[in-house]
Amino acid sequence: MDHSITAARQRAQQLKVEILQFCEHEMPADLLGKSRRHQVLSKDDYVRWMRLLHEKGWSIAHWPGELGGRDWSPLERFTFEDQLARLGCPWVIPFGVKYVGPVIYTYGSEAQKQRFLPRIANSEDFWAQGYSEPGAGSDLAGLRTQAVRDGNEYVVNGQKVWTTYAQWADWMFCLVRTDRTSLDKRPQSGISFLLVDMRSPGISVKPIATMDGYHHVNEVWLEDVRVPVGNLVGEEGQGWTYAKFLLKNERTAGAIVGMAWHALHRLEQLAADTVAGGSRLVEQPLLRNRIGEFELRFLALEEAAYQAVEAMMTGSETGGEASLIKIRGTELYQEIAEATVDALGLAGIAYDTGALHEGGLPPLGPDDAGGILKDHFYNRAATIFGGASEIQRNIIAKVVLGL
Ligand SMILES: Cc1cc2nc3c(=O)[nH]c(=O)nc-3n(C[C@H](O)[C@H](O)[C@H](O)COP(=O)(O)OP(=O)(O)OC[C@H]3O[C@@H](n4cnc5c(N)ncnc54)[C@H](O)[C@@H]3O)c2cc1C
Repeated sequence: MDHSITAARQRAQQLKVEILQFCEHEMPADLLGKSRRHQVLSKDDYVRWMRLLHEKGWSIAHWPGELGGRDWSPLERFTFEDQLARLGCPWVIPFGVKYVGPVIYTYGSEAQKQRFLPRIANSEDFWAQGYSEPGAGSDLAGLRTQAVRDGNEYVVNGQKVWTTYAQWADWMFCLVRTDRTSLDKRPQSGISFLLVDMRSPGISVKPIATMDGYHHVNEVWLEDVRVPVGNLVGEEGQGWTYAKFLLKNERTAGAIVGMAWHALHRLEQLAADTVAGGSRLVEQPLLRNRIGEFELRFLALEEAAYQAVEAMMTGSETGGEASLIKIRGTELYQEIAEATVDALGLAGIAYDTGALHEGGLPPLGPDDAGGILKDHFYNRAATIFGGASEIQRNIIAKVVLGL
């Protein structure tokens, strides 16, 4: 494959067109409608969605060709997520295909590759990410969940928190401490990367309700959970290396750009369609100024994001690019969502969840009003998960400003 920037740009452009055609002609209308109204998607919806992407050859297209992928460049990966989000498609669930899959094919044993990769590709197994713990989020290396070797098994005890969709997960990839003494010396050492079967005795999943009132995240308690040694990825004590490799994939998210675009487009539509006090909202100077500012900030974000992805491909990046996109993208998205809620007027005050489920009563205002509020509430967390904004600013200060 031609790996030049010019060829990658052409392929990314072609991909955008293919995704648009897929959305217009192949995407099941019920799924697209639900997603565009920001309704609640079930596990079955997500699995159906991931399988549709797999049928198109897209869900693992960033994997190497010999494993069924298409060797996508970072530009194609970014464009893929950006374009899907612009079109209001569901979230591409990353835990299997984007996070643990690449860790397994890069560092895992042959047996792990054979066993897990085909099931990840087909979304036969649903995965969760067991990194964060109470007291170990930004400072992840402070994690305390322990795995003690006992013959051919590890016995795991501890607690994970904020584990997205653990209630649906068949498997959880987990960072655990295999060397108890390392926490006081060099906390990054003595961490291992384990694949844990969620049906193992000793695991309990407790829901945490988020501000939107729904169940996205959980506490996961592990009490004397026995994990076969064969589920250790790579070498014992080297988990930090694999964790960092995975976090690099977590940070390259084109969806942030696409979500901001989609939200801005919806705000513009709402402002054009809504009449309040005898005039259309778009004619009100304050809102017009707000939208104008968002448009400019979006253009700057889009340009910076695509330049950053290309810099990653040519090796000319500073190391702060992903942090910059994360901060600018999530903050812009949150401000657009806030303006959209304001523009909804009364429908933006009542959190009307009536239409968030299939067959529910129509909400006050437009049919996506409840969904706009739901997303607005949930995405307050976007400046926390995947590395909080303060942490991203610290990274920029260090790698770009040398502070
Ligand atoms: C909706 C949601 C879904 C999530 N899903 C998952 C998941 O699936 N799997 C998983 O493992 N984790 C998940 N997380 C956890 C997420 O990664 C952590 O919340 C995040 O890393 C922040 O850690 P924390 O919550 O412990 O906050 P803390 O690290 O305690 O931070 C609290 C505040 O202090 C600030 N702060 C901390 N350290 C510094 C510093 N050095 N300098 C300046 N400011 C600092 C932070 O920016 C933040 O504002 C999820 C979180 C949320 C909210």
